[in-house]
Amino acid sequence: NADVAKNRAKLDGRGSVWFFDQQLHDELLHQHHLIDKLEQALERGELALHFQPQVSVASGRIENLEALLRWQPAEGPSISPAEFIPLAERSDLIHRLGDWVMEAACHQRSLWREAGLAIERIDINFSGRQMSRTDIFQRFEACLARYDLGPRHIGIELTENVLIEADERILAGLHRLHQLGFRIAIDDFGTGYSSLSYLKHFPVTALKIDRAFVRDAPEQPEDRAIMEAAIFIGHRLGLEVVAEGVENREQLALIREMRCDLVQGFYFFRPMPAQELERVLTGLVVGGQGFAG
Ligand code: C2E
Ligand code: MG
Ligand code: MG
Ligand code: MG
Repeated sequence: NADVAKNRAKLDGRGSVWFFDQQLHDELLHQHHLIDKLEQALERGELALHFQPQVSVASGRIENLEALLRWQPAEGPSISPAEFIPLAERSDLIHRLGDWVMEAACHQRSLWREAGLAIERIDINFSGRQMSRTDIFQRFEACLARYDLGPRHIGIELTENVLIEADERILAGLHRLHQLGFRIAIDDFGTGYSSLSYLKHFPVTALKIDRAFVRDAPEQPEDRAIMEAAIFIGHRLGLEVVAEGVENREQLALIREMRCDLVQGFYFFRPMPAQELERVLTGLVVGGQGFAG
């Protein structure tokens, strides 16, 4: 391609050389391709929500669910949100995805209410760019209203960095949701580059301790110490504390000892499609290893 050849090496005004990087070029092509595919996926109905239960450490019961986006193309393996969400974030496509997730979660929650399924709340993830949309809070509330849902039914998860970077408008919107009784969790807690002081300003109700700490806690005293401190501070601030990514009994034993409130992880349940979750909840399938395992 001629443009590519022309760009192979460029000299800018200050005399520094910009080398054309074939690998970078391929990567960009791949990304454009994925964005196009993702846009088609939205239209073709190749997206789905999976649901991962959060289990109460005290009762062993399923309390809430986290909704996690899945993309299963007609051909080929499914693509992880860790790969396509950051990509979608670079364009307005993230807003369409966000709308889709909100709608799908509300729809599912209302179906489960009609079916009388014992599920309280579904939490959805919001990324930074999604929050920066000026009408995001109106959209969120309008979506819930369409399904006659309230603060008990849908919660939100935001990472530390999203909170830190939040402007006045976003903070005001979060304060309003908080006052209305919505649950707002800090996702991946402990991995952002932030001071703890932000915790006192932000209207949040829960901390989700990042799974990196949980993963290494049985072997690493440092990870254990950080987890313990996070749980302590969370509780002292009146927040609910969730441990993410619990995969084995050693981790669970530590988490129980530390009096964490909720656990989420493959040891109990993997994220699963709505129908599978229904079978678990109605007792047709014995899911997770639970506390007996
Ligand atoms: P997250 O919000 O921190 O979600 C938790 C991730 O950990 C999920 O990955 C989940 O499948 C995974 N996980 C849960 N338990 C375990 C475990 O025991 N072991 C291990 N190794 N992993 C576990 P997933 O579904 O691939 O999502 C990755 C990230 O993509 C999410 O991290 C979230 O940041 C983002 N994401 C997912 N769905 C959405 C969405 O609807 N909207 C937005 N904006 N972001 C989303
Ligand atoms: Mg999350
Ligand atoms: Mg997380
Ligand atoms: Mg994460």
